Amino acid sequence: MTLRWRLTIAFVLVVVVPLVVGAGIVSRALPREVQAAQRDGALESSRLVAQVVRDYCDRARATAEAAGRAATSTTRAGRTQAISSLVDRGLADGVQVTDPRGRVVATSGSLPASPTDCSRANRSGMFLSAVMPLTTASGKPAGQAVAAFVVAGSLLDAVRAAVRDGEVVLVDASGAVVAVTSVIPSAVVRAASTRPAHHGWVTGFTPPSTGQPFGVVVLLPAAHGPGILLDATLVLLLAIALAVVIAVLSARATTRPLEQLGDAAARIASGDLSTAIEVTSKDEVGRLATAFNVMTDELRSYVGQLEASRDELQSGLARLGDTLSSTHDLDRILHVVLESAVASTSATSGMVLLLTPSRDDLVMAASKGLDVPLDLRIKVGEGISGRVALTGDAVNGVVEEGSDGELSGAHVIAVPLKSSGTVIGVLDLFGTAAFDDIDLATIRTFASQATVAVDNVLLHEEAQRLSITDGLTGLWNYRYFTMTVAKEIERAARFSRPLALLMLDLDHFKGVNDSFGHQRGDAVLVELAARIRAEVRDVDTVARYGGEEIVVILPETDADGAGQLAERICVAVRRRPFGQPGVPPVHLTVSAGGAVFPAHALSASALLAEADKALYAAKHAGRDTWRIANGSEVPH
Ligand code: GH3
Ligand code: MG
Ligand code: MG
Repeated sequence: MTLRWRLTIAFVLVVVVPLVVGAGIVSRALPREVQAAQRDGALESSRLVAQVVRDYCDRARATAEAAGRAATSTTRAGRTQAISSLVDRGLADGVQVTDPRGRVVATSGSLPASPTDCSRANRSGMFLSAVMPLTTASGKPAGQAVAAFVVAGSLLDAVRAAVRDGEVVLVDASGAVVAVTSVIPSAVVRAASTRPAHHGWVTGFTPPSTGQPFGVVVLLPAAHGPGILLDATLVLLLAIALAVVIAVLSARATTRPLEQLGDAAARIASGDLSTAIEVTSKDEVGRLATAFNVMTDELRSYVGQLEASRDELQSGLARLGDTLSSTHDLDRILHVVLESAVASTSATSGMVLLLTPSRDDLVMAASKGLDVPLDLRIKVGEGISGRVALTGDAVNGVVEEGSDGELSGAHVIAVPLKSSGTVIGVLDLFGTAAFDDIDLATIRTFASQATVAVDNVLLHEEAQRLSITDGLTGLWNYRYFTMTVAKEIERAARFSRPLALLMLDLDHFKGVNDSFGHQRGDAVLVELAARIRAEVRDVDTVARYGGEEIVVILPETDADGAGQLAERICVAVRRRPFGQPGVPPVHLTVSAGGAVFPAHALSASALLAEADKALYAAKHAGRDTWRIANGSEVPH
């Protein structure tokens, strides 16, 4: 059930329940009040009617007195006329005077058969009559005078006039109905004197009294319950309908801002952060809307920041990926890793340090935003970077006073670069604010990238080195030699410079293998390589041509220079025996043959063939000597 419905029902209940209770109370109390008021009215009306009847009684008595006086006329005709004039003047409907013996003296109009005086309960049937006893002047009884009104006509009109809206019943002493102003059920009339409300009528009853011979019953149609209840019910229904309308309207007015809030929240939940709610009031809902808008703003800026840093991270990773896949330039890779790490965190600067082969020192491999010497070296175990290199554990803290250059006091996060569990370097980031766990996670990602990069580059370098060097002696191999000699000949040709080639071959080397074994022979070859390397210049290329034959490329060298070097090498080999302390020394000699570009040959292969020929000549000459092509030779 929606909030609006709950509010509507609550409003309706709050209004309707008291309304119904009130209506219930009123519907019970009101008819009684109305009936009581009606009863009072009916009673009052019956008294008024009784008064009218009493007035008529008085008038009848006055008329009877007048008739008594008029009857004193001496002639019968005079008496009769006097009596008739009383009737004619409307002072009574009938008048009669009788003598003491009951004989009629004069009579006129309608009269009851046996009149009773209206000061007592009526027994005169349909008449209201006054009976006056007459006396003579001497006080003797002289008969009686009767004046009567028919209980109809003017009397009844006067009675009706006394009762505004209701009916009147006059009853005589025996309870018989004398007159009614309307047709009224006899059961109602019978019950009227004992039950004030009966069959939809309210009654008022005034009993006969002196001067008023009738029981007067006034009947008013009861303004009975059903009518009032119907009215009350209608009013109640109207009130309920009004309450429902008001409840619906006020519930809608109350819940509309909440619905707007709900809609806005739904829009935000579906990703529309541009949603703002119009604040139309300062009440609770208004405050809620304001807080909601503030929250949306915050959320929008937070999402904006997140998106920006995500984009930054993505572009950093893309740059990193491009760099990693396109180059084996370690310097460049480390710079890109470092730049990406700085950009992706709150860092302002950073550096990558790599362990030296001896694992004693860390040396700077890349730096960003730092004013530190390029040849910065940090001893393992010293400062934050040194400790990270030593322990292999990341550090998130503050640079101590006096270490890591001038960065003292800066916030630092330092993580080890680990390859197969071995620390190979440290990635440091510096910032003005403390780094959080997210920064730590980010920098760890970049550290592992850097590690992969370093590993790859080292692997690549190693592979490259292996492909052009000789595994035993560390000299360049035949492959490298052929590449280099071609390049060097081309250069020499272009600059018209000489180039010499020297071919060396140990004398009777087979005997070493035979006498001491191949391992010893290998050791001799390693030592031979070292001795030759010690004699040549940096620019010279020493390569193992095959077996125990070694070839040396000598740029900028003519036949003389080649001969001098050949001699030096012969001496270096001959001078002291080969071998380490503790093993039997081996005395060896070497023979050499040289050829010079362009004097002896113009191509690499021809030059090589000339040198080989010269070497053969040296061997032929008895070994431990050298020859230069074209037979030139310098004996030692
Ligand atoms: P000479 O050159 O004076 O004529 O005599 P030599 O005994 O040195 O003869 P040659 O140069 O023809 O023999 C080459 C020998 O060098 C054959 C092999 O036993 C040895 N040799 C070649 N390469 C290696 C190597 O890599 N290790 C070892 N231990 N011996 C090698
Ligand atoms: Mg040989
Ligand atoms: Mg040899």
